[in-house]
Amino acid sequence: QPPVILCIGMAGSGKTTFMQRINAHLHAKKTPPYVVNLDPAVGNLPFTANIDVRDTVNYKEVMKQYNLGPNGGILTSLNLFTTKFDQVLDLIAKRADSVSHILVDTPGQIEIFTWSASGSIITDTLASTYPTVIAYIIDTPRTTAPATFMSNMLYACSILYKTKLPFILVFNKTDVVSHEFAVEWMTDFEKFQEALSHDTTYMSSLMNSMSLVLDEFYSHLKVVGVSAVTGNGVEDFFAAVDEAAVEYERDYKPEIERMI
Ligand code: GDP
Ligand code: MG
Repeated sequence: QPPVILCIGMAGSGKTTFMQRINAHLHAKKTPPYVVNLDPAVGNLPFTANIDVRDTVNYKEVMKQYNLGPNGGILTSLNLFTTKFDQVLDLIAKRADSVSHILVDTPGQIEIFTWSASGSIITDTLASTYPTVIAYIIDTPRTTAPATFMSNMLYACSILYKTKLPFILVFNKTDVVSHEFAVEWMTDFEKFQEALSHDTTYMSSLMNSMSLVLDEFYSHLKVVGVSAVTGNGVEDFFAAVDEAAVEYERDYKPEIERMI
């Protein structure tokens, strides 16, 4: 079965641009993927999707009809789409033999996917059939402050423990800022503590204790640095996906089979 790459991340981290990049990369290698867009509110999609939530629901109409704001409109649209997800699975299954990967883009606002019933249903149903990998996209230039870095890692941590799926931290925009500082903080605990001690904006003692929790989290991760704009690091990313797919077969699949 082709691996599913679920692109998740904060608004503006570069999920859609990264999707465009990895899609182009796979096409160039003559191993085209199957592409799914789950963002009802994306204006202009820079890649061709095989399945596009916007073909099923118009989130602006949903906003009007149900008297909702933008986030409510997006969430309700995703919910309406999810009621037809069995049809989506059938369509994917028909093409599964002939595609290299299944790429999934998610709504701009991260919580719409990660903290909604639809997000869980979509994630779990995909993961019950395909080796599913979370690509957690990070806006590297915007996460250089220790406290911001820690919040972002804790968010990633919560998603890892919620889904229990193989997880790749994708430090994006390395054309602007290298992700070396992040790797250093993740591998050398004292370096992070040192950086934190200069950060007076947050409650450092709380941060200190939480960084111990993160140490455990880091041991379950793969980390890559990429630039969705230049394509730098994309090979590393796909190598991490291959490893993650093996991890899925070894750790996740037996768990699902036990539950069924
Ligand atoms: P999304 O909300 O996570 O889907 O983010 P988008 O893909 O829409 O990207 C948000 C902004 O970040 C856009 O202006 C992109 O051009 C920019 N962006 C995305 N990836 C990169 C990158 O690798 N390098 C740089 N410099 N900008 C990027
Ligand atoms: Mg997007």
